[in-house]
Amino acid sequence: MSYESRMLEQLAMPRRAEVQNALLRTLLKHGGVVKEFAAGEEVVDELADRFRLNPAQRTAALETVYRKENRLKKTLLWHRLLFRAADALATDGVVSRPTQTSRLTGKREWMLTEKGFDEALRISQIPAAEKDSLPIKSYEVQKVVKKLLDAPRPENYQPFDSTRKLVKKIRETAVRLRGFRQAVIEVYDFRCAVCGLKINSPDNLCWEVEAAHIVPHASFGRDDLFNGIALCRFHHWAFDVGWFSLLERWGDYELIRALTEQQTGIRLPRRRGVYPHINSIRWHRQFIFCQ
Ligand SMILES: [Zn+2]
Repeated sequence: MSYESRMLEQLAMPRRAEVQNALLRTLLKHGGVVKEFAAGEEVVDELADRFRLNPAQRTAALETVYRKENRLKKTLLWHRLLFRAADALATDGVVSRPTQTSRLTGKREWMLTEKGFDEALRISQIPAAEKDSLPIKSYEVQKVVKKLLDAPRPENYQPFDSTRKLVKKIRETAVRLRGFRQAVIEVYDFRCAVCGLKINSPDNLCWEVEAAHIVPHASFGRDDLFNGIALCRFHHWAFDVGWFSLLERWGDYELIRALTEQQTGIRLPRRRGVYPHINSIRWHRQFIFCQ
């Protein structure tokens, strides 16, 4: 028996399979991501609390002697166990490793994959049908988000996706839509572009702000930032039924004052490159807006 397994046994540490399950639940609770395990990271203590670890279990350290450098390296056994559990999940393709994730998001985090998201829902007994409405990040969705954020702004934008009919892969569509939603909400800083409503907290398992298609999805509107705008539920509904639209004025957009008389403009993203495209807005004004 190895030195590490002996210590795990002596201290009656939780089994790795249990830690893996706890990690999946924790990932779900934290929006799909947790930081690398290190001293002082809240998630390390949160997981220890979950298992009601005693002080000895929390502080036990593995000692490795580095002969060359003639020094002793100490690693907390609990950190080690967490790492081993997360690493096993990564090997199963259930989470992405911090090195992988950081290439995508710049943050060294363990992140759920789509497979891991499904598994986390299953063990938490949350119906799979709720997946689309949960603000949980996944590696695949994050890839879509990155692609949307990096997309160059086309001058002559075509807001319709004429190829969509040919795409029958439901799962792919679902991932793309979740990516669209996340990218739109993020660039609008989680606020409704019209009224500025922002309700969200890490514990809140649903967005109040929604990502609206300007050319609706049903009319083959594209799932990208040039055809998207963040709106609260009320303004989303009002926009979809054509109670208001957007104006172009001096190259900028202003809100038609159908509902918000006192307001002069809408809240747009900081980066102009991701503003809604005028071709989408013109279509909305022409076909949806009740003039
Ligand atoms: Zn609103």
